[in-house]
Amino acid sequence: MPTNVVSPIDGETLGQVEQMDAAAVDLAYNTARKALEEWRKVPSERRGRILLRAADLLETRAEDFAQTETLNTGKLLKDTRREAGRAAACFAYYGGLADKVTGDTLDVAGPFHTYTKREPYGVAVGVIPWNVPYVFAAKKIAPALAFGNVSLLKPAEETPLTALMLAEVLAEAGLPEGMAQVLTGGAETGKALVSDPRADLIVFTGADSTGRVIAKAAAENLTPIAMELGGKSPQIVFADADLDAALASVLLGAFSATGQMCIAGSRLLVQREVYDTFVARLSEAVAGLRVGDPREQRTQVGPQVTPGQRDKTLDMIRLGQDEGATLAADAPYPGAQSGGFYVPPTLFTEVNPEMRIMREEIFGPVLAVMPFATEEEAIELAHATDFGLAAGVWTKDLGRAHRMASRLRAGTIWLNTYRMLSDSVPFGGVDHSGYGREGGPEAVRLYTWTKSVWTSTEPGIPPGYDF
Ligand code: NAD
Repeated sequence: MPTNVVSPIDGETLGQVEQMDAAAVDLAYNTARKALEEWRKVPSERRGRILLRAADLLETRAEDFAQTETLNTGKLLKDTRREAGRAAACFAYYGGLADKVTGDTLDVAGPFHTYTKREPYGVAVGVIPWNVPYVFAAKKIAPALAFGNVSLLKPAEETPLTALMLAEVLAEAGLPEGMAQVLTGGAETGKALVSDPRADLIVFTGADSTGRVIAKAAAENLTPIAMELGGKSPQIVFADADLDAALASVLLGAFSATGQMCIAGSRLLVQREVYDTFVARLSEAVAGLRVGDPREQRTQVGPQVTPGQRDKTLDMIRLGQDEGATLAADAPYPGAQSGGFYVPPTLFTEVNPEMRIMREEIFGPVLAVMPFATEEEAIELAHATDFGLAAGVWTKDLGRAHRMASRLRAGTIWLNTYRMLSDSVPFGGVDHSGYGREGGPEAVRLYTWTKSVWTSTEPGIPPGYDF
Protein backbone atom coordinates (compact mmCIF):
# COMPACT_ATOMS: atom_id res chain seq x y z
CA MET A 1 0.00 0.00 0.00
CA PRO A 2 1.52 3.37 -0.96
CA THR A 3 1.89 6.20 1.59
CA ASN A 4 2.19 9.91 0.99
CA VAL A 5 5.52 11.68 1.30
CA VAL A 6 4.85 15.14 2.69
CA SER A 7 6.92 18.34 2.71
CA PRO A 8 7.37 19.75 6.23
CA ILE A 9 7.70 23.24 4.72
CA ASP A 10 3.99 23.53 3.93
CA GLY A 11 2.43 20.09 4.39
CA GLU A 12 2.10 19.56 0.61
CA THR A 13 2.25 15.99 -0.73
CA LEU A 14 5.41 15.39 -2.74
CA GLY A 15 4.58 11.91 -3.97
CA GLN A 16 3.87 8.39 -2.80
CA VAL A 17 6.07 5.43 -1.98
CA GLU A 18 5.34 1.77 -1.43
CA GLN A 19 5.18 0.26 2.06
CA MET A 20 7.09 -2.90 1.22
CA ASP A 21 5.60 -5.96 2.87
CA ALA A 22 7.15 -9.25 4.01
CA ALA A 23 6.85 -10.74 0.50
CA ALA A 24 8.72 -7.77 -1.01
CA VAL A 25 11.42 -8.07 1.65
CA ASP A 26 11.73 -11.79 0.92
CA LEU A 27 12.19 -11.05 -2.77
CA ALA A 28 14.82 -8.41 -1.97
CA TYR A 29 16.82 -10.96 0.05
CA ASN A 30 16.62 -13.53 -2.76
CA THR A 31 17.84 -10.93 -5.23
CA ALA A 32 20.57 -9.78 -2.82
CA ARG A 33 21.86 -13.33 -2.27
CA LYS A 34 22.19 -13.88 -6.04
CA ALA A 35 23.77 -10.45 -6.48
CA LEU A 36 26.29 -11.27 -3.77
CA GLU A 37 27.62 -14.22 -5.74
CA GLU A 38 28.25 -11.91 -8.69
CA TRP A 39 29.65 -9.01 -6.64
CA ARG A 40 32.21 -11.32 -5.01
CA LYS A 41 33.64 -12.06 -8.45
CA VAL A 42 34.18 -8.36 -9.17
CA PRO A 43 37.80 -7.36 -8.36
CA SER A 44 38.06 -4.78 -5.59
CA GLU A 45 39.71 -2.25 -7.92
CA ARG A 46 36.69 -2.49 -10.25
CA ARG A 47 34.26 -2.13 -7.35
CA GLY A 48 36.14 1.00 -6.36
CA ARG A 49 35.87 2.41 -9.87
CA ILE A 50 32.09 2.01 -9.88
CA LEU A 51 31.89 3.90 -6.61
CA LEU A 52 34.20 6.62 -7.94
CA ARG A 53 32.01 6.96 -11.03
CA ALA A 54 28.98 7.22 -8.74
CA ALA A 55 30.78 9.95 -6.78
CA ASP A 56 31.29 11.97 -9.98
CA LEU A 57 27.66 11.56 -11.03
CA LEU A 58 26.45 12.49 -7.57
CA GLU A 59 28.57 15.60 -7.68
CA THR A 60 27.04 16.70 -10.98
CA ARG A 61 23.54 16.06 -9.54
CA ALA A 62 24.30 17.70 -6.19
CA GLU A 63 21.85 20.54 -6.69
CA ASP A 64 18.95 18.15 -7.54
CA PHE A 65 19.71 16.14 -4.43
CA ALA A 66 19.91 19.26 -2.26
CA GLN A 67 16.62 20.65 -3.58
CA THR A 68 14.81 17.34 -3.07
CA GLU A 69 16.31 16.88 0.40
CA THR A 70 15.20 20.36 1.43
CA LEU A 71 11.65 19.76 0.15
CA ASN A 72 11.44 16.39 1.92
CA THR A 73 13.19 17.23 5.21
CA GLY A 74 12.65 20.99 5.54
CA LYS A 75 16.38 21.50 6.14
CA LEU A 76 18.09 24.69 4.97
CA LEU A 77 19.30 24.62 1.38
CA LYS A 78 22.74 25.69 2.54
CA ASP A 79 22.84 22.56 4.75
CA THR A 80 21.49 20.15 2.14
CA ARG A 81 23.96 21.53 -0.42
CA ARG A 82 26.80 20.77 1.97
CA GLU A 83 25.31 17.34 2.66
CA ALA A 84 25.04 16.61 -1.08
CA GLY A 85 28.78 17.27 -1.27
CA ARG A 86 29.36 14.99 1.71
CA ALA A 87 27.39 12.13 0.17
CA ALA A 88 29.36 12.35 -3.09
CA ALA A 89 32.60 12.56 -1.10
CA CYS A 90 31.58 9.45 0.84
CA PHE A 91 31.42 7.43 -2.41
CA ALA A 92 34.79 8.86 -3.47
CA TYR A 93 36.34 7.99 -0.10
CA TYR A 94 35.17 4.37 -0.11
CA GLY A 95 35.77 4.01 -3.84
CA GLY A 96 39.41 4.88 -3.17
CA LEU A 97 39.58 2.52 -0.19
CA ALA A 98 38.00 -0.49 -1.92
CA ASP A 99 41.29 -2.06 -3.08
CA LYS A 100 43.38 -1.00 -0.10
CA VAL A 101 42.02 -3.44 2.46
CA THR A 102 44.80 -5.66 3.75
CA GLY A 103 45.32 -8.40 6.28
CA ASP A 104 48.43 -9.13 8.37
CA THR A 105 51.15 -11.72 8.30
CA LEU A 106 51.65 -13.09 11.79
CA ASP A 107 54.77 -14.45 13.43
CA VAL A 108 53.95 -17.76 15.12
CA ALA A 109 56.13 -20.52 16.56
CA GLY A 110 56.75 -23.46 14.25
CA PRO A 111 56.98 -24.03 10.51
CA PHE A 112 54.01 -21.97 9.48
CA HIS A 113 53.13 -19.08 7.22
CA THR A 114 50.15 -17.47 8.92
CA TYR A 115 48.14 -14.53 7.72
CA THR A 116 44.76 -12.84 8.04
CA LYS A 117 42.32 -11.75 5.35
CA ARG A 118 39.33 -9.41 5.62
CA GLU A 119 36.13 -10.99 4.31
CA PRO A 120 32.86 -9.19 3.50
CA TYR A 121 29.90 -10.20 5.68
CA GLY A 122 27.54 -10.67 2.76
CA VAL A 123 24.14 -8.98 2.83
CA ALA A 124 24.61 -5.76 4.82
CA VAL A 125 21.32 -4.24 6.02
CA GLY A 126 21.19 -0.52 6.73
CA VAL A 127 18.24 1.12 8.51
CA ILE A 128 18.28 4.91 8.78
CA PRO A 129 16.24 7.71 10.38
CA TRP A 130 14.51 10.69 8.80
CA ASN A 131 16.88 13.50 9.75
CA VAL A 132 19.89 13.14 7.40
CA PRO A 133 18.59 10.66 4.81
CA TYR A 134 20.91 11.25 1.88
CA VAL A 135 24.18 11.28 3.82
CA PHE A 136 23.14 8.29 5.93
CA ALA A 137 22.12 6.32 2.83
CA ALA A 138 25.57 7.05 1.34
CA LYS A 139 27.32 6.10 4.60
CA LYS A 140 25.53 2.74 4.71
CA ILE A 141 25.75 1.81 1.01
CA ALA A 142 29.25 3.01 0.00
CA PRO A 143 31.38 1.11 2.56
CA ALA A 144 29.19 -2.00 2.28
CA LEU A 145 29.76 -2.18 -1.49
CA ALA A 146 33.40 -1.10 -1.36
CA PHE A 147 34.42 -4.05 0.78
CA GLY A 148 32.44 -6.67 -1.17
CA ASN A 149 29.04 -6.76 0.52
CA VAL A 150 25.70 -6.09 -1.11
CA SER A 151 23.41 -3.55 0.53
CA LEU A 152 19.75 -3.53 1.55
CA LEU A 153 18.83 -0.06 2.76
CA LYS A 154 15.63 1.05 4.42
CA PRO A 155 15.20 4.81 4.67
CA ALA A 156 12.61 6.29 7.03
CA GLU A 157 9.13 6.30 5.55
CA GLU A 158 8.92 10.10 5.93
CA THR A 159 12.08 10.91 3.95
CA PRO A 160 12.81 8.25 1.32
CA LEU A 161 13.23 10.44 -1.78
CA THR A 162 17.00 11.02 -1.97
CA ALA A 163 17.78 7.37 -1.14
CA LEU A 164 15.62 6.35 -4.12
CA MET A 165 17.43 8.89 -6.32
CA LEU A 166 20.75 7.52 -5.09
CA ALA A 167 19.80 3.98 -6.18
CA GLU A 168 19.09 5.32 -9.69
CA VAL A 169 22.48 7.06 -9.88
CA LEU A 170 24.26 3.88 -8.73
CA ALA A 171 22.63 1.95 -11.58
CA GLU A 172 23.72 4.66 -13.98
CA ALA A 173 27.27 4.40 -12.62
CA GLY A 174 27.32 0.73 -13.64
CA LEU A 175 26.38 -1.00 -10.40
CA PRO A 176 24.72 -4.26 -11.43
CA GLU A 177 21.10 -4.81 -10.41
CA GLY A 178 20.39 -6.06 -6.90
CA MET A 179 23.71 -4.93 -5.37
CA ALA A 180 22.17 -1.92 -3.60
CA GLN A 181 18.42 -2.12 -3.11
CA VAL A 182 16.38 0.57 -1.38
CA LEU A 183 13.34 -0.77 0.47
CA THR A 184 10.69 1.80 1.30
CA GLY A 185 8.29 1.53 4.22
CA GLY A 186 8.01 2.07 7.94
CA ALA A 187 8.56 -0.03 11.06
CA GLU A 188 6.83 -3.14 9.64
CA THR A 189 9.15 -3.19 6.63
CA GLY A 190 12.09 -2.62 8.97
CA LYS A 191 11.02 -5.49 11.24
CA ALA A 192 10.79 -7.91 8.30
CA LEU A 193 14.24 -6.78 7.18
CA VAL A 194 16.11 -7.04 10.48
CA SER A 195 14.50 -10.27 11.69
CA ASP A 196 15.41 -12.21 8.53
CA PRO A 197 18.15 -14.81 9.09
CA ARG A 198 19.61 -13.92 5.68
CA ALA A 199 20.84 -10.58 7.10
CA ASP A 200 24.59 -11.04 7.58
CA LEU A 201 25.15 -7.63 9.21
CA ILE A 202 22.84 -4.89 10.46
CA VAL A 203 23.97 -1.27 10.78
CA PHE A 204 21.24 0.82 12.37
CA THR A 205 20.98 4.55 12.91
CA GLY A 206 17.98 5.79 14.87
CA ALA A 207 16.42 6.13 18.30
CA ASP A 208 17.66 4.13 21.30
CA SER A 209 14.15 2.72 21.84
CA THR A 210 14.14 1.30 18.29
CA GLY A 211 17.73 0.11 18.75
CA ARG A 212 16.63 -2.11 21.65
CA VAL A 213 13.92 -3.76 19.51
CA ILE A 214 16.31 -4.29 16.58
CA ALA A 215 19.07 -5.67 18.83
CA LYS A 216 16.59 -8.28 20.14
CA ALA A 217 15.55 -9.26 16.60
CA ALA A 218 19.21 -9.52 15.57
CA ALA A 219 20.03 -11.61 18.65
CA GLU A 220 17.48 -14.25 17.57
CA ASN A 221 19.62 -14.95 14.50
CA LEU A 222 22.96 -13.98 16.08
CA THR A 223 23.29 -11.34 13.37
CA PRO A 224 26.13 -8.90 14.13
CA ILE A 225 24.88 -5.37 14.62
CA ALA A 226 26.21 -1.85 15.05
CA MET A 227 24.03 0.94 16.36
CA GLU A 228 24.30 4.70 16.09
CA LEU A 229 21.66 5.97 18.50
CA GLY A 230 20.63 9.25 20.08
CA GLY A 231 22.41 11.79 22.22
CA LYS A 232 22.07 14.58 24.78
CA SER A 233 25.44 16.13 24.24
CA PRO A 234 26.96 18.82 26.46
CA GLN A 235 28.71 21.93 25.18
CA ILE A 236 31.02 23.17 27.94
CA VAL A 237 32.22 26.78 27.91
CA PHE A 238 35.06 27.78 30.26
CA ALA A 239 35.53 31.42 31.27
CA ASP A 240 38.83 31.66 29.39
CA ALA A 241 37.28 30.63 26.05
CA ASP A 242 36.97 32.73 22.91
CA LEU A 243 33.41 33.62 23.90
CA ASP A 244 32.38 35.03 20.51
CA ALA A 245 33.36 31.80 18.76
CA ALA A 246 31.83 29.74 21.56
CA LEU A 247 28.51 31.59 21.24
CA ALA A 248 28.36 31.04 17.47
CA SER A 249 29.22 27.39 17.94
CA VAL A 250 26.65 26.86 20.70
CA LEU A 251 23.95 28.26 18.40
CA LEU A 252 25.12 26.02 15.55
CA GLY A 253 25.30 22.95 17.78
CA ALA A 254 21.86 23.41 19.28
CA PHE A 255 19.71 25.00 16.57
CA SER A 256 21.06 24.00 13.16
CA ALA A 257 18.97 21.35 11.39
CA THR A 258 16.21 22.57 13.75
CA GLY A 259 17.93 20.62 16.53
CA GLN A 260 17.20 17.34 14.70
CA MET A 261 20.70 15.99 15.04
CA CYS A 262 21.87 13.04 17.10
CA ILE A 263 24.89 15.24 17.91
CA ALA A 264 22.81 18.28 18.91
CA GLY A 265 24.62 20.07 21.73
CA SER A 266 21.38 20.48 23.64
CA ARG A 267 22.88 20.92 27.14
CA LEU A 268 25.03 23.96 27.68
CA LEU A 269 27.35 24.28 30.71
CA VAL A 270 28.91 27.71 31.25
CA GLN A 271 31.51 28.57 33.90
CA ARG A 272 30.12 30.85 36.60
CA GLU A 273 32.47 33.80 36.01
CA VAL A 274 30.98 34.41 32.56
CA TYR A 275 27.56 32.78 33.00
CA ASP A 276 25.43 35.95 33.27
CA THR A 277 27.00 37.80 30.36
CA PHE A 278 27.14 34.71 28.14
CA VAL A 279 23.51 33.76 28.81
CA ALA A 280 22.35 37.37 28.23
CA ARG A 281 24.03 37.34 24.80
CA LEU A 282 22.70 33.86 24.05
CA SER A 283 19.12 34.85 24.99
CA GLU A 284 19.28 37.78 22.65
CA ALA A 285 20.61 35.59 19.85
CA VAL A 286 17.94 32.90 20.37
CA ALA A 287 15.13 35.47 20.39
CA GLY A 288 16.49 36.83 17.12
CA LEU A 289 16.71 33.50 15.25
CA ARG A 290 14.85 33.63 11.95
CA VAL A 291 12.50 30.65 11.60
CA GLY A 292 10.79 29.97 8.30
CA ASP A 293 10.93 28.56 4.81
CA PRO A 294 14.29 26.74 4.48
CA ARG A 295 14.55 27.72 0.81
CA GLU A 296 14.88 31.40 1.74
CA GLN A 297 18.41 32.61 2.25
CA ARG A 298 17.68 34.60 5.40
CA THR A 299 16.18 31.60 7.24
CA GLN A 300 18.29 30.12 10.05
CA VAL A 301 15.89 27.49 11.41
CA GLY A 302 13.44 25.49 9.28
CA PRO A 303 10.51 23.27 10.27
CA GLN A 304 10.66 19.91 12.02
CA VAL A 305 10.51 16.93 9.68
CA THR A 306 7.22 15.44 10.88
CA PRO A 307 4.09 16.67 12.67
CA GLY A 308 4.79 14.01 15.33
CA GLN A 309 8.23 15.46 15.99
CA ARG A 310 6.80 19.01 16.09
CA ASP A 311 4.25 17.91 18.70
CA LYS A 312 6.93 16.12 20.74
CA THR A 313 9.08 19.26 20.83
CA LEU A 314 6.12 21.47 21.81
CA ASP A 315 5.24 18.95 24.57
CA MET A 316 8.82 19.01 25.87
CA ILE A 317 8.81 22.83 25.93
CA ARG A 318 5.61 22.72 28.03
CA LEU A 319 7.13 19.99 30.21
CA GLY A 320 10.22 22.12 30.84
CA GLN A 321 8.03 24.92 32.16
CA ASP A 322 5.99 22.46 34.27
CA GLU A 323 9.24 21.09 35.70
CA GLY A 324 10.11 24.59 36.90
CA ALA A 325 12.69 25.65 34.31
CA THR A 326 12.66 29.28 33.16
CA LEU A 327 11.91 29.88 29.50
CA ALA A 328 14.57 32.56 29.06
CA ALA A 329 14.08 33.16 25.33
CA ASP A 330 12.27 31.90 22.29
CA ALA A 331 12.01 33.01 18.69
CA PRO A 332 8.87 33.86 16.70
CA TYR A 333 7.85 31.12 14.27
CA PRO A 334 5.28 30.50 11.50
CA GLY A 335 2.06 29.17 12.97
CA ALA A 336 -0.34 26.44 11.84
CA GLN A 337 -1.66 28.61 8.95
CA SER A 338 1.68 28.06 7.15
CA GLY A 339 0.85 24.36 6.87
CA GLY A 340 4.45 23.63 7.93
CA PHE A 341 5.71 21.88 11.08
CA TYR A 342 7.42 24.83 12.79
CA VAL A 343 8.36 25.20 16.46
CA PRO A 344 10.00 28.05 18.39
CA PRO A 345 13.75 27.75 19.07
CA THR A 346 13.81 27.86 22.86
CA LEU A 347 16.34 28.52 25.62
CA PHE A 348 15.79 27.29 29.18
CA THR A 349 17.66 28.49 32.27
CA GLU A 350 17.23 27.59 35.98
CA VAL A 351 17.37 23.90 35.13
CA ASN A 352 18.76 20.99 37.12
CA PRO A 353 20.21 17.65 35.97
CA GLU A 354 17.18 15.68 37.18
CA MET A 355 14.73 17.43 34.85
CA ARG A 356 13.56 15.40 31.87
CA ILE A 357 14.48 18.25 29.50
CA MET A 358 18.08 17.79 30.73
CA ARG A 359 18.16 14.01 30.39
CA GLU A 360 16.01 13.07 27.39
CA GLU A 361 16.71 13.65 23.74
CA ILE A 362 14.20 16.21 22.42
CA PHE A 363 15.33 16.27 18.77
CA GLY A 364 14.10 19.82 18.38
CA PRO A 365 15.59 23.32 18.75
CA VAL A 366 15.61 23.39 22.55
CA LEU A 367 18.69 24.30 24.57
CA ALA A 368 19.03 24.27 28.36
CA VAL A 369 21.88 26.03 30.18
CA MET A 370 23.42 25.57 33.63
CA PRO A 371 26.39 27.17 35.41
CA PHE A 372 29.37 25.22 36.77
CA ALA A 373 32.36 26.17 38.92
CA THR A 374 35.16 23.64 38.35
CA GLU A 375 36.34 21.09 35.79
CA GLU A 376 35.22 18.41 38.20
CA GLU A 377 31.68 19.79 38.34
CA ALA A 378 31.58 20.22 34.55
CA ILE A 379 32.46 16.54 34.10
CA GLU A 380 29.86 15.47 36.64
CA LEU A 381 27.11 17.50 34.96
CA ALA A 382 28.19 16.39 31.48
CA HIS A 383 27.79 12.77 32.55
CA ALA A 384 24.32 13.25 34.08
CA THR A 385 22.63 11.45 31.17
CA ASP A 386 22.46 7.90 29.81
CA PHE A 387 23.84 8.99 26.43
CA GLY A 388 27.47 9.26 25.30
CA LEU A 389 27.54 10.42 21.71
CA ALA A 390 29.47 13.71 21.69
CA ALA A 391 30.72 16.64 23.78
CA GLY A 392 32.15 20.07 23.02
CA VAL A 393 34.67 21.98 25.15
CA TRP A 394 35.59 25.66 24.80
CA THR A 395 38.78 26.82 26.51
CA LYS A 396 42.10 28.43 25.56
CA ASP A 397 43.96 26.25 28.07
CA LEU A 398 45.46 23.41 26.01
CA GLY A 399 46.13 21.22 29.02
CA ARG A 400 42.58 21.58 30.26
CA ALA A 401 41.18 20.89 26.77
CA HIS A 402 42.98 17.55 26.60
CA ARG A 403 42.21 16.70 30.25
CA MET A 404 38.54 17.18 29.46
CA ALA A 405 38.83 15.17 26.21
CA SER A 406 40.39 12.35 28.14
CA ARG A 407 37.79 12.31 30.93
CA LEU A 408 34.56 12.89 28.99
CA ARG A 409 32.71 9.67 28.18
CA ALA A 410 31.50 10.23 24.62
CA GLY A 411 32.31 8.87 21.16
CA THR A 412 33.35 12.25 19.73
CA ILE A 413 34.93 15.20 21.55
CA TRP A 414 35.16 18.58 19.85
CA LEU A 415 37.70 21.02 21.32
CA ASN A 416 37.03 24.65 20.39
CA THR A 417 34.72 23.52 17.58
CA TYR A 418 31.49 21.53 17.21
CA ARG A 419 29.57 19.40 14.70
CA MET A 420 32.57 18.65 12.45
CA LEU A 421 32.33 15.26 10.70
CA SER A 422 34.37 13.51 8.02
CA ASP A 423 34.48 10.13 6.31
CA SER A 424 38.08 9.78 7.48
CA VAL A 425 37.12 10.02 11.15
CA PRO A 426 35.33 7.22 13.03
CA PHE A 427 31.92 8.08 14.45
CA GLY A 428 29.68 6.40 17.02
CA GLY A 429 28.67 6.46 20.66
CA VAL A 430 28.92 4.70 24.00
CA ASP A 431 26.23 3.69 26.50
CA HIS A 432 22.71 4.50 25.23
CA SER A 433 24.22 6.20 22.18
CA GLY A 434 25.07 2.79 20.75
CA TYR A 435 28.05 0.67 19.84
CA GLY A 436 30.21 -0.01 16.79
CA ARG A 437 31.90 2.64 14.68
CA GLU A 438 31.32 3.88 11.16
CA GLY A 439 33.81 5.95 9.20
CA GLY A 440 37.53 5.92 8.48
CA PRO A 441 39.50 2.74 9.06
CA GLU A 442 36.80 1.54 11.46
CA ALA A 443 34.43 1.09 8.50
CA VAL A 444 36.70 -1.67 7.18
CA ARG A 445 36.40 -3.46 10.52
CA LEU A 446 32.64 -2.88 10.58
CA TYR A 447 31.89 -4.26 7.11
CA THR A 448 34.39 -7.15 7.07
CA TRP A 449 35.40 -9.98 9.38
CA THR A 450 38.83 -11.46 9.98
CA LYS A 451 39.78 -14.85 8.58
CA SER A 452 43.02 -16.46 9.84
CA VAL A 453 44.92 -18.78 7.48
CA TRP A 454 47.62 -21.25 8.64
CA THR A 455 49.93 -22.87 6.05
CA SER A 456 52.51 -25.50 6.89
CA THR A 457 55.89 -24.72 5.33
CA GLU A 458 57.41 -28.14 6.19
CA PRO A 459 56.21 -31.54 5.03
CA GLY A 460 54.57 -33.83 7.57
CA ILE A 461 53.17 -33.20 11.03
CA PRO A 462 54.93 -30.76 13.41
CA PRO A 463 56.90 -32.48 16.20
CA GLY A 464 54.75 -33.26 19.24
CA TYR A 465 51.48 -33.23 17.23
CA ASP A 466 51.77 -36.74 15.78
CA PHE A 467 48.73 -38.81 16.51
P1 NAD B 1 13.53 5.71 14.63
O1 NAD B 1 14.37 4.86 15.51
O2 NAD B 1 12.11 5.89 14.97
O3 NAD B 1 13.55 5.13 13.13
C1 NAD B 1 14.76 4.85 12.49
C2 NAD B 1 14.50 3.81 11.43
O4 NAD B 1 14.14 2.58 12.04
C3 NAD B 1 13.38 4.16 10.45
O5 NAD B 1 13.76 3.77 9.15
C4 NAD B 1 12.23 3.29 10.96
O6 NAD B 1 11.27 2.98 9.97
C5 NAD B 1 12.97 2.06 11.41
N1 NAD B 1 12.28 1.23 12.38
C6 NAD B 1 11.38 1.61 13.33
N2 NAD B 1 11.00 0.54 14.07
C7 NAD B 1 11.68 -0.53 13.59
C8 NAD B 1 11.73 -1.91 13.93
N3 NAD B 1 11.02 -2.42 14.94
N4 NAD B 1 12.54 -2.72 13.23
C9 NAD B 1 13.30 -2.24 12.22
N5 NAD B 1 13.28 -0.95 11.83
C10 NAD B 1 12.49 -0.09 12.51
O7 NAD B 1 14.31 7.08 14.52
P2 NAD B 1 13.78 8.43 13.87
O8 NAD B 1 12.67 8.93 14.72
O9 NAD B 1 13.56 8.22 12.41
O10 NAD B 1 15.09 9.35 14.04
C11 NAD B 1 15.41 10.00 15.21
C12 NAD B 1 16.37 9.22 16.07
O11 NAD B 1 17.54 8.83 15.33
C13 NAD B 1 16.90 10.04 17.22
O12 NAD B 1 16.90 9.30 18.41
C14 NAD B 1 18.32 10.36 16.82
O13 NAD B 1 19.20 10.66 17.85
C15 NAD B 1 18.70 9.12 16.10
N6 NAD B 1 19.87 9.40 15.24
C16 NAD B 1 21.10 8.90 15.58
C17 NAD B 1 22.21 9.20 14.81
C18 NAD B 1 23.59 8.68 15.13
O14 NAD B 1 24.42 8.61 14.21
N7 NAD B 1 23.90 8.35 16.36
C19 NAD B 1 22.08 10.01 13.71
C20 NAD B 1 20.82 10.52 13.41
C21 NAD B 1 19.72 10.18 14.17
